[in-house]
Amino acid sequence: MSLLHTALENKKTAVVLGHMNPDGDCVGSCLAVYNYLKDCFPQVEVTVYLDQPAEKYAYLNGFYEIRTEMPENPEADLCICLDSGDRDRLGDFLGFLDQAGESLCVDHHITNTGYGDKNVVDADASSTCEVLYDLMEEEGISKETAECLYTGIIHDTGVFQYSNTSIKTMEIAGKLMAKGVDFSTIISDSFYRKTYVQKQILGRALLESILFCDGKCIFSVLRKKDMEFYGVTSKDMGGIVEQLRTTDGVECAIFLYEKTPQEFKVSLRSNKQVDVSRVASYFGGGGHVRAAGCTMNGSIHDVVNNLSKQIVKQLGE
Ligand code: 5GP
Ligand code: MN
Repeated sequence: MSLLHTALENKKTAVVLGHMNPDGDCVGSCLAVYNYLKDCFPQVEVTVYLDQPAEKYAYLNGFYEIRTEMPENPEADLCICLDSGDRDRLGDFLGFLDQAGESLCVDHHITNTGYGDKNVVDADASSTCEVLYDLMEEEGISKETAECLYTGIIHDTGVFQYSNTSIKTMEIAGKLMAKGVDFSTIISDSFYRKTYVQKQILGRALLESILFCDGKCIFSVLRKKDMEFYGVTSKDMGGIVEQLRTTDGVECAIFLYEKTPQEFKVSLRSNKQVDVSRVASYFGGGGHVRAAGCTMNGSIHDVVNNLSKQIVKQLGE
């Protein structure tokens, strides 16, 4: 029996949590567990708590049952934490972790701190959804659950493009296709489609990007006043850092956006050499070898300077 199944033994209530500002793997993995539990453990009352996810994930079954407010008394027999490398990533819903009778963490971040009572962390897996697939029984995976898992995998692999894509990833994706998921629509509508303003800020970020370190690094930043001008939020920033990363000659890409004055959310990507999880961890964040993030304070100049010092160290190794 998998750790997911054993963790659910004799449990009456379960809460499912992900990380703040949830991405496709986060929403996909939370709703995959939600659907799987509804189907295979009907005796367990399951609730998903997340920051409001982007509307583009509304095709996932259970999307409208996601709760976005922390209850006064956060209690559950089991707290399942997904796609979150450390306790703080759980954001507003962290209280559940300490109140719950037991916790199970399922993740794929190399920087995972092992904060659950039980932890299933596979840093070689493309996505949390890939880790979850192994914890589920094949016959218990409905088409709805498969759609959630497939969504997580395509988002964290950039549609099977990034180096975290393995033979196993493709085999799992094939098994999920066999469940009847509409993969063309999922890929097109949840990964590639962007709103007009999202395209506009992408264009602006590219236009204002700056190459440095002999063209090996690139950075761009969106300030709060510009985000307000276009009417965009953190949910609209997906994909910008990827467009920076694929610039000819670039090894490492940095994208920042201003959360509050002098406070920046940092996204880092690399191609072959730089371990950006080390850079992000150094500044209190985390992630993967080729994709990581953190939050930093100071002027744009200071933030980029501090980041580039750590990056340049690795470029010289
Ligand atoms: P993104 O740049 O897309 O926001 O994040 C890239 C990867 O780094 C994701 O796997 C994400 O979970 C992780 N990550 C981003 N920001 C943080 C952070 O502040 N702390 C930690 N621990 N991980 C982060
Ligand atoms: Mn993930």
